[in-house]
Amino acid sequence: MSRSGVAHLTPGPGQAVRGMVRVPGVDPPWEFPAFVIRGAAPGPTLAVTAGIHAAEYPPIEAATRVARELDPARLHGSVIVVPLVNVPGFFARSIYVNPVDGRNLNRAFPGSATGVASERVANFLLEHVIDGCDAYLDLHCGDMIEALVPFVGYHVTGRDDVDGRSRALSEAFGVEHVIASRSADLPGTAYANAALRGVPALLAEIGQQGVYERRSVERLVRGVRAVMARLGMLPGAAPPAPGPRRELARFSWLHAEDSGTYHPSISVGDEVAEGQEVGEVRDLFGDRLRVLRAPASGTVLFLVTSLAINRGEPLFGVGVPA
Ligand SMILES: [Zn+2]
Repeated sequence: MSRSGVAHLTPGPGQAVRGMVRVPGVDPPWEFPAFVIRGAAPGPTLAVTAGIHAAEYPPIEAATRVARELDPARLHGSVIVVPLVNVPGFFARSIYVNPVDGRNLNRAFPGSATGVASERVANFLLEHVIDGCDAYLDLHCGDMIEALVPFVGYHVTGRDDVDGRSRALSEAFGVEHVIASRSADLPGTAYANAALRGVPALLAEIGQQGVYERRSVERLVRGVRAVMARLGMLPGAAPPAPGPRRELARFSWLHAEDSGTYHPSISVGDEVAEGQEVGEVRDLFGDRLRVLRAPASGTVLFLVTSLAINRGEPLFGVGVPA
């Protein structure tokens, strides 16, 4: 049977409950808000998380809105929503990492029940929120210093039953650019580890640059509800017709080799060719330190927009066609 509760949040059929859930063994205490909406009628269970990256604002509001607007009397199955995982990072307005242990939570999966804070939170999410669900959506956007083209992604595990259902989630969400990644471009992500444990999963990236704005929130809400319609959880709601789809095989990242100021000459959405000059890094007097070249041919999906750059940090990501 599918999961229908999280920790102490265990509604009966036709009920919705919400509350703060504490991750065991983390000091200072790490609590996150969770909603469990259990439909009056049976059906699949969908888990939705946002705010694993704490300064990605449209996903946090979209997940909250989805949870608040669901009517358990009209829902088939259950929806579990954690709208803000990284509460410590949220109030610190933290980019990429959480302030408790300085780690990137979306590189800490599958985590460990005995590790540092990020590992414990990751492990808790997998074991007590995601395991036992029939589908999982992890909502993100460009972080405070990142522009992006909206895209969704799923991890190809090699298990046809899981991969087929992850692909169906990507079709339902209604975003043109789809990364179906076979390699672990970015190890330790929530959606890839969910899929590896047998839960079909999708990453959705809509919004950017620390801007809390309505259009991205609405697009994310529409995508989640379209997935629910596709899963048969919203009686009377037909899944939207599929739009254009452009499948990409992987991300190719360029990382900074110098600290200094970052001057890209490309924009998100641009097509680049491998080896093409795409900007430069300068020192604090304005002298060029290094010419930057595209690491692969494809579409620029992610672009860091911070003038300040540290050696080792990502500069941009190219979606490489399948
Ligand atoms: Zn993110």
